Amino acid sequence: MRNLVTGGAGFLGSHLIDKLLSAGEEVVSLDNYFTGSKSNLKKWFNNNKLEIIRHDITQPILLEADRIWHLACPASPIHYQNNPIKTAKTSFLGTYNMLGLAKRLNARFLLASTSEIYGNPLVHPQKEAYFGNVNTIGPRSCYDEGKRIAETLCFDYKRMHNSDIRVVRIFNTYGPRMLPNDGRVVSNFIVSAISGNPLTIYGDGSQTRSFCYVDDLINGMLKLMNSNYDLPVNLGNPDEFTVKDLAKILIKKVNPDVKLIYKNLPEDDPLRRKPDISIAKEVLNWEPSISLSDGLDKTIKYFKDYLKNEK
Ligand code: NAD
Ligand code: UDP
Repeated sequence: MRNLVTGGAGFLGSHLIDKLLSAGEEVVSLDNYFTGSKSNLKKWFNNNKLEIIRHDITQPILLEADRIWHLACPASPIHYQNNPIKTAKTSFLGTYNMLGLAKRLNARFLLASTSEIYGNPLVHPQKEAYFGNVNTIGPRSCYDEGKRIAETLCFDYKRMHNSDIRVVRIFNTYGPRMLPNDGRVVSNFIVSAISGNPLTIYGDGSQTRSFCYVDDLINGMLKLMNSNYDLPVNLGNPDEFTVKDLAKILIKKVNPDVKLIYKNLPEDDPLRRKPDISIAKEVLNWEPSISLSDGLDKTIKYFKDYLKNEK
């Protein structure tokens, strides 16, 4: 089986490629290295089942593949807001180009969508049937609306061309290979605590997120790709924590001497988020198995090693 992974040099893409190559499959990684790095794939450089291509998916490309895993898109607010027009182009044109390729190749296509399509949800926990509460004109809209149109394109390709699509709505996922300057809360807090700097909480820290360890998420994505279920599926860890809880856990684990400081909550920052994973449990027989504490320990170790080697 030949797998095309867009965003293959990124955090999730490189973990997915690890799994696919470990299972003996062929992989083509397509990435423009905006937030990803070839070094995330370095342990496979001598494996001839991996082909690495630098390409920006806003441009079409012709390749051979049996399955397309479409992950290319910056995911952290600081990165996707860096050039919001480019983010919208990546979501729309990139998904359009990859769906066109899937149609031409008759390949199964999986979109990495997001819990952000629910916006600042008025329903809790979020089920797939919830249509969401998204601001169309705010600083997060390029990403949230970009992913919404990407989902729409998938379902229009399915209706018009019988495309074989899968859509995963990923909730906050963390783990080794997040960038130290990624800007997302888990990496920010861990890097600050290791460096002895205060942890910065946006707002009063009462907003909630549900954090999924990367290995659990990738297992769920593999199950979805291999299943016959072609409606959107939430994948995430339903254990819900406030941002302040997370900060306290990490201070205790990494460095009890660091303090908390507070900054304003960014515009449109969702106040609560927790996946309802009943569909994933039922149709994929999937649920996360790694607790926040164990996942954080693995991630802390990764960042300690990374920062030591950087010195
Ligand atoms: P990431 O930033 O590490 O990976 C994204 C990858 O896409 C990077 O390697 C980047 O260089 C590449 N890329 C960006 N724009 C591109 C373009 N125009 N052409 C080619 N490559 C491009 O982020 P991630 O956390 O690994 O996220 C992967 C996917 O999963 C994204 O689509 C993201 O929206 C989705 N997702 C992630 C999370 C999460 O918590 N990690 C949550 C929800 C959804
Ligand atoms: N956050 C924070 N401090 C940080 C980074 C993020 O308090 O250094 C907050 C952020 O405002 C949000 C939550 O943590 O409420 C999760 O942010 P992240 O960027 O990780 O994910 P997203 O908001 O996209 O779910």
